[in-house]
Amino acid sequence: MAEIVLEGITKRYPDGAVAVKDVNLSVGDGEFVILVGPSGCGKSTTLNMIAGLEDITEGTLRIDGQVVNDKTPKDRDIAMVFQSYALYPHMSVRDNMGFALRLAKVDKATIREKVEEAARILDLTEHLDRKPANLSGGQRQRVAMGRAIVRDPKAFLMDEPLSNLDAKLRVQMRTQISRLQQRLGSTTIYVTHDQTEAMTLGDRVVVMRGGVVQQIGTPQHLYDQ
Ligand code: ADP
Ligand code: ADP
Repeated sequence: MAEIVLEGITKRYPDGAVAVKDVNLSVGDGEFVILVGPSGCGKSTTLNMIAGLEDITEGTLRIDGQVVNDKTPKDRDIAMVFQSYALYPHMSVRDNMGFALRLAKVDKATIREKVEEAARILDLTEHLDRKPANLSGGQRQRVAMGRAIVRDPKAFLMDEPLSNLDAKLRVQMRTQISRLQQRLGSTTIYVTHDQTEAMTLGDRVVVMRGGVVQQIGTPQHLYDQ
């Protein structure tokens, strides 16, 4: 679990484009924050800077009080879930979920235990020996989440995790993500352009536009008026 604090964060890409301008945001330990706004407003760039996938041009990023601007993604201990599942097609669900732990040389019994626990939480127990090609879109997205969960990261970052799913599955997955976050109690930052997700999923909503934070508030505060 972790507190994530952005102080005056700015991103200027090498071509000169300023994607994010002076963003200040404090995400509390265990909090579920939604970043919402139209395409191109800087949501993914913000998330990628927190994950360490993009350099921060200006400003300070702190995780649990420590400045992490120069830390590698691995040393930040934050898991990222993308809209494209990027599962390994030749590996079973079990092996996909345990992959990072195998790389980290975690012992087999522990990997098995962690993978099976994540599968229970995500309703994937019956699918552990299947290949990704034989799963539905929602199941694949859950495997991608399982792969993140097994590492016990300090925080989760999700970038439009549901946008490749059809409307019905999106509704089901919204419920599952809420349940999952409540159960794990982990700090989560979730990027979406979908108002319904913003209204229903998080503790707090951050509205971005043109690279700046336009509004921050609870879903009730922002949408029930
Ligand atoms: P969102 O996630 O809200 O759709 P992005 O963070 O992807 O927005 O993009 C914010 C802005 O930064 C956009 O104007 C986009 O074109 C620009 N941008 C994103 N990635 C790059 C890049 N690698 N180089 C230059 N500009 C980029
Ligand atoms: P999304 O809208 O889902 O955030 P995009 O399709 O805008 O994603 O961007 C996909 C990829 O293209 C990202 O890696 C992003 O960094 C890059 N990208 C986006 N805009 C630009 C841009 N103006 N110049 C260069 N790369 C860009």
